[in-house]
Amino acid sequence: MATQFFYQNATFLKSAAKLEQLPQDSGWEVAFIGRSNAGKSSALNTITGIKGLARTSATPGRTQMINLFTLDDQRRLVDLPGYGYAKAPRVIKERWEQNTNKYLETRQCLRGLVLIMDIRHPLKEIDQELIAWAVKCEVPLHILLTKADKLKSAPARSTFKKVEEALNVYGNRISLQLFSSNDRTGLEEARERLDGWLSS
Ligand code: GDP
Repeated sequence: MATQFFYQNATFLKSAAKLEQLPQDSGWEVAFIGRSNAGKSSALNTITGIKGLARTSATPGRTQMINLFTLDDQRRLVDLPGYGYAKAPRVIKERWEQNTNKYLETRQCLRGLVLIMDIRHPLKEIDQELIAWAVKCEVPLHILLTKADKLKSAPARSTFKKVEEALNVYGNRISLQLFSSNDRTGLEEARERLDGWLSS
């Protein structure tokens, strides 16, 4: 798959407030998830090379929904709602959790999940719950430690190692990389992971 060109085909398809509004469960999907402000929208924009494809957290509304982008008629990228946003009302958080858990549990066409964590705040409790849930649902997981540009390379590598060690309990089912939307660190690595999922 010719990576860069392929991701630049991404086009907004729809926002789904409920799972029933998702497109037919066929083809291939790769979903993105992360705490609000971790850098998920920026990562999606960087990976596709389309500025403004995923709205950043400055634009509320769509961030509470499942947003879908088509790559071709069989393949989609899915932007799951940002979680752990302190100001969100409890009822919204609960709805988010239910929808997300059900999506991860039931979506047949889901080939992999990309978890975005700010390298300065990795493995928060809610991230760990999500990781455990993805493992339980047997969804392949790839983690982007993003905003890597915020750290010098030695502390970035040391955080990488710590997170890698913490994930050892799950065997080698979870992959991990450094990423930055600002300087495009790790862009090719991330696209290669997606290529693998979207073509298998
Ligand atoms: P989201 O809520 O997870 O979608 O996060 P956003 O993509 O909206 O990013 C949240 C904030 O972090 C914004 O101010 C971004 O400009 C900033 N940001 C995102 N990615 C990076 C990155 O790789 N490096 C730096 N330095 N800032 C980033």
